[in-house]
This record gives sequence, structure tokens and C-alpha cells, in this order.
Amino acid sequence: MTNTQIISGKDIATHLLETKLVPRVNTLKEKGITPKLVVILVGDHPASASYVRQKEKFADKCGIIAETWRYEAEVTEKKILEEIERINKDKEIHGVIVQLPLPDHISIQKVLNTIHPSKDVDGFTPNNIGELFLGEPTLQCCTPKGIITMIKESGHELSGKNVTVIGRSNIVGKPVAMLALNESATVTICHSRTKNLNEHLEKSDIIIVAVGIPEFLKGDQIPAGAVVIDVGIHRKDDGKLCGDVEFESAVEVAGAISPVPGGVGPMTVYSLIENTIESAERN
Ligand code: NAD
Repeated sequence: MTNTQIISGKDIATHLLETKLVPRVNTLKEKGITPKLVVILVGDHPASASYVRQKEKFADKCGIIAETWRYEAEVTEKKILEEIERINKDKEIHGVIVQLPLPDHISIQKVLNTIHPSKDVDGFTPNNIGELFLGEPTLQCCTPKGIITMIKESGHELSGKNVTVIGRSNIVGKPVAMLALNESATVTICHSRTKNLNEHLEKSDIIIVAVGIPEFLKGDQIPAGAVVIDVGIHRKDDGKLCGDVEFESAVEVAGAISPVPGGVGPMTVYSLIENTIESAERN
């Protein structure tokens, strides 16, 4: 039995939805504005379909419109870019995301470069990434933003803390490191070429794991009492979900840990809906 705090992203997202998002949506509706999100879904990737359903469900609970525009896997890149141009001009639509992965014949970078930054509620366009790095107010990438929200909402300070991020991807590792730095943490970024990972972990108060390897981080690598945020999500052979952290060993030493499922995932969806509301408020 341990006294480790389980940081439930699911509970935090539900609480914030009721206390923060619904009142903001109601204020917008009084002004005749209903925030609207469009999700572009290409092909029939089963995981994507499930992620899209979660987004629709959360949007519905919030009272905003979420439409999924579906296209066959053979759709041309030109058609998708035209659809985005159409969305950019539509004043009734406040946010658009393109569900990844895309088929190989569609360039992710071209797609992202076409989305107007003011409607980029995934926070992936070069403009919004640049603003995030500058510490300017902007539509921030959803998973990193959700991670920072969940750390703060569960009562943990970032200022002055040693934060180690494992992983340097453009969608999680790099932006979350920058957001933690903007919160005045001392940040170390580790990656596949890092030597002596454990030495970096030793001094960590907060560890954010986004390596994409099932149960990569074990309990014996975690300093006693550290806060562990598990970003990974994988389906094991027995059908159960797991993260990038070996939960059973980590929970014995960590001071706080986010579970998989029910941790970072719901916070990512929360941030997407929050960004859509923010975009509607700005426009
Ligand atoms: P990625 O594959 O793009 O990046 C993985 C990173 O891990 C790389 O930067 C690499 O350098 C690093 N890495 C690989 N092996 C390592 C090692 N041995 N030691 C240290 N670092 C190592 O992955 P990503 O897109 O950042 O996603 C990471 C995980 O998070 C995946 O499991 C993904 O499914 C999950 N994810 C979850 C959410 C969510 O909302 N819950 C969102 C995005 C990603």
C-alpha cells in the first residue's frame, strides 16, 4: 500500500469542464456565438475513429458543435487543402484539426501550413509553435497544454522544480519542455541519444515520459516522491492499455502518477475543446 497520489486526468477534465468551460460557452451563446470545431478524418484508422468519438462526446457535454468531416483514404491532397481553405473563410467555424495519421500521399506539413493560425486548435502550425516558444499567448498544442494543466490542478508547482522530459517529438516532448520552462521550471530534455538517462532522472522533481515505448520507465529509475506524468498509450497483447511507464513499479516510489488510461488522454481532449472556445472568444 502506498500513499501515492493518482492524478486522474479524467476527473480533472470533468471538473474543469463543469466549472470553467460550460460557463464560458454559455457567455458566448448569450452573444449568439456557438463555438464550432471541425475534425477532418481521412481513411478508416480504428484508433483515429475512437479518438474522434471522444472529442465529439466531450464537445457535446460542453455544449459546443463538433462536426467530423470524413474522407476516403484515396482523397487527394488538393481536395483536403481546398476544404481547409473553405474552413479558414467560414466565420461559423472556430477551430479545425486534421486527425493524424494521414495517408502517405498527403503532406502533413502542407496541411498544417494551410490551416489559419487563428483556427489551429491543435496548436501545430509554425506560427502557433513560434508563439509558444516566445511565451506569448496563443493556441497551445493540446497534449503539452493538458499536461501542464493537470500538474497544476493536482496541486504541484512547476516554478523552480527540476522537470525531466523524456522524448523530443514536435507534438509532445519539445513543446511541453518549453511550456514547463515558461512556468519557470529547470528543464532537461532526454531522448534516444541521451547517455546515462538515470543520472538525469535522479535529480528530477517531475518526470514527463513521452517515448512511445510500452512500460519504458520502471520504478527503480524514479526518485522517491517524484511526480510522474505518463503520456504514452499502447495496447498490450492481452488487450489492456498501458503507458510509457511501468505503473505497478512506479506507483510504489512516485509521489504522484498519472494513470493510463484516464490520465493525459482526457486532458488532451479537454485542451482541444478549451482551444476551440478560446478561438471563438477571440474572434
Ligand atoms: P515519437 O515517437 O514522435 O517520439 C518519441 C521520442 O522518444 C523521440 O523523441 C525519441 O528520441 C525518444 N526516445 C525513443 N527511445 C528512447 C530511449 N530509449 N530513451 C530516451 N528517449 C527515447 O512519440 P510522440 O508522438 O512524442 O508520442 C509519445 C507517446 O505518447 C506515444 O506512445 C504516443 O502514442 C503517446 N501520445 C499520447 C497522447 C495523448 O493524448 N495521450 C498524445 C500524443 C502522443
